[in-house]
Amino acid sequence: MSDAPRGPRFTELALGAGVRGVLTEAAGGVSPAPWAAPDGPGLDLGLNAGDDADRVRANRALLAGALGAPVVYATQVHGAHVREVDDPAAATLDSVGEADGLVTTVPGLALAVLVADCVPVVLADPRARVVGVAHAGRRGVELDVVGAVLDVMRSRGASPADVRAVVGPSACGRCYEVPDAMRDAVASLAPGAWSTTSWGTPALDLPAAVDARLRDLGVGHVVRDGRCTIEDASLFSHRRATAPGGAGTTGRLAGVVHLLDARG
Ligand SMILES: [Zn+2]
Repeated sequence: MSDAPRGPRFTELALGAGVRGVLTEAAGGVSPAPWAAPDGPGLDLGLNAGDDADRVRANRALLAGALGAPVVYATQVHGAHVREVDDPAAATLDSVGEADGLVTTVPGLALAVLVADCVPVVLADPRARVVGVAHAGRRGVELDVVGAVLDVMRSRGASPADVRAVVGPSACGRCYEVPDAMRDAVASLAPGAWSTTSWGTPALDLPAAVDARLRDLGVGHVVRDGRCTIEDASLFSHRRATAPGGAGTTGRLAGVVHLLDARG
């Protein structure tokens, strides 16, 4: 196993012709525990989770190299502000600024959303050639960050019926326990979020809420990744890390999307 090739581990998304999207996993970077994968160093892509900033930048550089595209990252604040990125110079290994959604029409410029239990949403209109990402945690669902990203994509020529969306790995509705009043509050805004844990206590199903919202907005193709970050050790999970006996912190994985060069 020590001879196994190292590098960012990710799954490819089907977002239509001329678009590449991926979801990263914990493995394939340079970060040690508690930002590591079960079987080796971790691809922690988050600058605000206690990991060494230079290691995170090294992981970000590894991902950009593997994708063959520079990647733009925002400082996510559980809001609904969407930033339009039109300058490739925004793809530093640091942050373009505060935002919970990013949109671009620039070929070859990748956008990333970082999560560790929140829902990463990756969107593309392959016909209009507009792509976007959204960070949809509990607050993002309440604030409709997905609708905000789609609004900006529409302003750049996208048509919801042509948009393909992937609802990435997150805490699932059988694991994401919350207080009863919080479940009521979120479900009053996003009914699809109402859930119960596998042990019978109040919970939120954020991927179901995001899926329902995308369909309400008329998005033509919605795919659920289905993996639960809390249950799947190959993914980063804040809840798992902060549970009794956990390491206290963990890394961040990414959903990434970019338009392929028109010639490519
Ligand atoms: Zn789960």
